[in-house]
Amino acid sequence: MLAALADSPDSTASTARLETAVDLRRSRLEMMLSVLDVDGAVSKVRGGWRRTGQEWDYDAERYARVERARLAEQAAMIEYERLGPDDCRVAYLRRQLDDPELVGVGPAGSGADGTDTGTGTGTGTEDGTRTAGGPAWRCGRCDLCAGPWAPELPDGESAENVRVALARAGVEIVPRRQWPTGMPGLGVDLAGRIAVEDRAEPGVALARMDGIGLAASVREAVGTTAGDGVVGPDLRAATRSVLERLRSDGVRVDGVVAVRSSTRPQLVDHLARGAAAVLGVPVVGSVVPRDGMPPGRHDLNSAQRLAVVERRLQLDLSDGAAAGLNGRSVLLVDDYTDSGWTLTLAARLLRRAGAGAVHPFTIGMR
Ligand SMILES: [Zn+2]
Repeated sequence: MLAALADSPDSTASTARLETAVDLRRSRLEMMLSVLDVDGAVSKVRGGWRRTGQEWDYDAERYARVERARLAEQAAMIEYERLGPDDCRVAYLRRQLDDPELVGVGPAGSGADGTDTGTGTGTGTEDGTRTAGGPAWRCGRCDLCAGPWAPELPDGESAENVRVALARAGVEIVPRRQWPTGMPGLGVDLAGRIAVEDRAEPGVALARMDGIGLAASVREAVGTTAGDGVVGPDLRAATRSVLERLRSDGVRVDGVVAVRSSTRPQLVDHLARGAAAVLGVPVVGSVVPRDGMPPGRHDLNSAQRLAVVERRLQLDLSDGAAAGLNGRSVLLVDDYTDSGWTLTLAARLLRRAGAGAVHPFTIGMR
């Protein structure tokens, strides 16, 4: 990133411009920029960031120290959560904050060595504030001192309502409206707003991949470690209910097009055929990678991802389907959507081939 800045006019570049030069997600890119800013290697200027010229080295020792401190904090948080009935949450917090009245006293549970954090492990008597001979200080109000305050179990009706809400499938895929900045610099001639006649319609994914409920099945099918296979029974039921809802909302579908997957060809094919059967329409073709183009990483920023996908996709329709596509409405099926560029570009290919509307449909959404 520093080299990219140094090579830019006036050693200055916008974040969007840097995205085209550095293979990092936007959030990580901005995090690095703010670290470099604090270290004095870059500074925020009008229109982006400037390389200050100050030398910068990766301070491994310092980052290791920060990481150790963060891990210790994390361990303390987990320990707080796992305190037992003999402990007190407020006493724990006070010890963590080196409260001098509690240092060296209190029940075990802090478990630590008690040296640098002030967390006491013993029941020492040197503490003057303790009631002589009495137990360690307790707040008397926390859940461990006073007992649980919430009802132990929800009633059957609430539990059922939650179960139904969690199992309900369907989250909207909002179509992209804008190309990222700086695409011409990556050799891709896309800029500004995405023309209305090139856009996808709003689509639907069965579930977000980071949720609970149906999301667990979705992760199992299309998560980072998931292999290929057929669509499982609960995802089939979810597919049916989502597509039937789409239809009752007045969305017309004339045919299904699948984005051919190099990692999960069987899953996407099964999903496409299943969706077509539910809707009573044919599978009319697929969006396929050009020969020899690798699948490409998903952990890129928007601009880099779009450039990879744009070079890779092409339409594969039978002659009959291609001839009959004009004005037809297509369900565009993929295993999951992340940046949204595959669906955006596949929809654009279909619209340019004559499709009147393209509705994306995926199992998962990141
Ligand atoms: Zn307490």
